[in-house]
Amino acid sequence: MEPIIVSGKEVSNKIKDEIAQEVELIKSKGGKVPHLAAVLVGDDGASVTYVNGKVKACERVGFHSTLVKLEPTITEEELLAEVEKLNQNDEIDGFIVQSPLPKHIDEQKITEAIDPKKDVDGFHPMSLGKMMLGLPCFLPATPFGITEMLRHYDIPTEGKHCVVMGRSHIVGSPMSVLMVRNAYPGNCTVTVVHSRTQNLKEITRQADILIVAIGKPQFVTSDMVKEGATVIDVGIHRIADDSKKSGFRLLGDVKFDEVAPKCAYISPVPGGVGPMTIASLLKNTLLAVKLKN
Ligand code: NAP
Repeated sequence: MEPIIVSGKEVSNKIKDEIAQEVELIKSKGGKVPHLAAVLVGDDGASVTYVNGKVKACERVGFHSTLVKLEPTITEEELLAEVEKLNQNDEIDGFIVQSPLPKHIDEQKITEAIDPKKDVDGFHPMSLGKMMLGLPCFLPATPFGITEMLRHYDIPTEGKHCVVMGRSHIVGSPMSVLMVRNAYPGNCTVTVVHSRTQNLKEITRQADILIVAIGKPQFVTSDMVKEGATVIDVGIHRIADDSKKSGFRLLGDVKFDEVAPKCAYISPVPGGVGPMTIASLLKNTLLAVKLKN
């Protein structure tokens, strides 16, 4: 079977074009140009790449952006003070604090310090609570991006069995909530599997839609996937590769080459969920401006 490749690159470009048009309209009416800030603590290679990607995306759609670079030795108290500065800055509509943070900083404490009105990553308990209740809110960027991909490709979800692999607060858990809600995409029967799950393969083989976010390179093999399934690969891993200019190549949590022939739809890595996460962040920032007005 020839699978349909779910191209996050393509969908995210379409979303960015739409956002750019909205920004032009806002400008033409003399409105405020959306402004996203990103806080980067330290110089972890992957984090620098992600944050630069977010800043570049802002430029592409006409947003203002601010990059706040901080030393890895910063104390928790100092970082909380930086967060508060961004909370108070009326110019900034939304901001993110790039994870992972250095070990001596309590990430949850930082998340909870972000003004929920500016929580465009959608990680604040207030955002997650509103999502649970189906209220308008900032959806967590990665699960939000995945729902947009499913919508773009018109992938049927109602009545389907969706298996979400992973239960993290930023991907797996919110993803399972979105897939079970009474909406499209949604109305699935959802199973969440994690590191303590027994008979993993038996469960994943039942999935009409398999969303993989476990953080283990090429973990999902073809024997774990049902014929005709939709497979969405959230994992991103940098694997050293001297033949590449960057010195690494990117792999997902799914063994793409052997799984793809069994699928109706499959998202690749790179070019799948990654670009959608950034597009969702831009959508949330635009929403922050709209909610403010
Ligand atoms: P995480 O916090 O490490 O969570 C991983 C989850 O997978 C946990 O719930 C863990 O179970 C489960 N798990 C680990 N090994 C397993 C196994 N052998 N079988 C079944 N479940 C297993 O990871 P995350 O933050 O959700 O991210 C997952 C992956 O997505 C990573 O590769 C990350 O880099 C990537 N990611 C990509 C994007 C993007 O924009 N594309 C965004 C975010 C994350 P326990 O709960 O029992 O430990």
